[in-house]
Amino acid sequence: MCLSKTLLSLKPNSNESMSICKDLRNNHNCSHFLNLLKKKNGLDSPILISPDLFNKPIDADDLINLCKENKLCPYFLSKFLLPEMKIIICNYQWILNPFIRQSFLKFIGKELHECILVIDECHNIIDLATEINSLKISPYSLRLCLRDLEVYRSPSLMQDFAKIILNHLKKKKTNLNAIELSISPEKLLHKIFLALGQNDLNEFKNFVNDLYEFSVAIHEEKTADGLVSRDYVGMLAEFWLTWIKTLSSDNYFFCYSIKEKNEKKSINMEIVALDPREITIPILKYSHSILHLSGTINPYVYHNLIGLNQSGKSYKGIITKSPFKKENIKALIIDGVDTKKNNRNPSMFKKIIQKIDEVLYSTPANVGIFCASYGILRSLISNGIERIAIKNNKKLFIEEQGLSASENALLIEDFKSMANPPYKGAALLGVSGGRNSEGEDYPGNYMNAVIITGFPYHLPTPRVEAKIQYYDKVFENQGWNFAYLYPAIQRANQASGRPIRKLNDKGTIIFMDSRFKHKIKWISNWMKSQLEIIPDKDNVITQILYPFWNID
Ligand code: SF4
Repeated sequence: MCLSKTLLSLKPNSNESMSICKDLRNNHNCSHFLNLLKKKNGLDSPILISPDLFNKPIDADDLINLCKENKLCPYFLSKFLLPEMKIIICNYQWILNPFIRQSFLKFIGKELHECILVIDECHNIIDLATEINSLKISPYSLRLCLRDLEVYRSPSLMQDFAKIILNHLKKKKTNLNAIELSISPEKLLHKIFLALGQNDLNEFKNFVNDLYEFSVAIHEEKTADGLVSRDYVGMLAEFWLTWIKTLSSDNYFFCYSIKEKNEKKSINMEIVALDPREITIPILKYSHSILHLSGTINPYVYHNLIGLNQSGKSYKGIITKSPFKKENIKALIIDGVDTKKNNRNPSMFKKIIQKIDEVLYSTPANVGIFCASYGILRSLISNGIERIAIKNNKKLFIEEQGLSASENALLIEDFKSMANPPYKGAALLGVSGGRNSEGEDYPGNYMNAVIITGFPYHLPTPRVEAKIQYYDKVFENQGWNFAYLYPAIQRANQASGRPIRKLNDKGTIIFMDSRFKHKIKWISNWMKSQLEIIPDKDNVITQILYPFWNID
């Protein structure tokens, strides 16, 4: 909601945004905030800034537009309105992130035990809760950190420290062929403090505390000079203090991770939290009560992973009846095809494309094809999926890896624009677990059919292995189910819901991998009763789908 060009140009994360915003306000450098204060001070209630808008529920976009027109800060205007509201709709971070929660609750003058939380799409909080407790550093942040240390004349050992880590990451980036490599946190720490000429962990810890204090001094000096920037030195100190704190905890994992974009490699060093309960249990415990809602959640996995049974609260699971008309839904599991590692060859991909051809032929408007990975997506392309789409009069749109949010928004807009006559629909080729298979809605003809191509298991990276091992230990040998199978089935369930968004939507869901046959109990309830297993024969898909779309 921020409109400050200075803050937005720094692209900070949520914690950094709060501290940069604070600096801007303290220095009277945010005109949007100053305008807002002036306007508000003359009134009894912030509602009077625009009573027509604020005396009823207001959309964030309307509030932002009002602020753009009047050069006010939408974020603080919404905050000033909060204490007068009975119902507040907010981002998960406002409650889940302890740092943001504390400031938010203080602002509205409430304690957590006075709040009833309604967590919509609650399946998202499992990953978010672990992300909140995870940290990473990159050569980019280290270079900026080093620059600050040099400009503000830090002791030379602090600069040596940043250089040691930077060189270490550069070397790793050159030598590493995998996308992830686990780190022994004790060994690496030992190597670092020896390189710094220190004798033990305590000496290193004192050094990192000094680094942290130095970062506070840099920050104060910058603020006094009216400068605003991200606190790279503080981030480095926080990273290593967390490393020291968590190095012998089995619920944390340490690794290097490699990303490739436009054929360029980048590396991060990460501290990965494995257990969401560290974040969720305090919220479950101290809030008044919570309603968790999801159309795709598996209640057994969810209540274990977020620690409902350890919160001291009672818990009631309710599975409601599906609101959608059964006759409007058809779900098929296709036998005879899969994307198991050993089967990823041209003849299997051609067979899959042949079956996709039948779906495209039978479906009047748009079709989404979500693959288990970008590798499978590329194999469909190299085996001729575009030709099949064109043969069925559907233009093929491809979600490429690394598309920016705005490029992707244009792609989806174009795809949706071909849903209705004179067009005969289009096909969108993307991945399960991506923004187009989870965050986007395709009501009506925007997506008549969705094809989930391949079982969307995550690559068995060291991080996934570590999670499986840890979950085996804390959830009675449920590691594989909770850390590997459940996220995959969740991705498939999310993708399968894309065509059915409104009560009268009609849609087909095609699971293009025979392995789904053995996991039916994990598939979302709303489509389970409409599920059929389709034998591996030519034209059976057409014989089922064509009448579904063409007979009223
Ligand atoms: S006061 Fe508002 S506009 Fe200014 S930096 Fe903070 S959030 Fe952004």
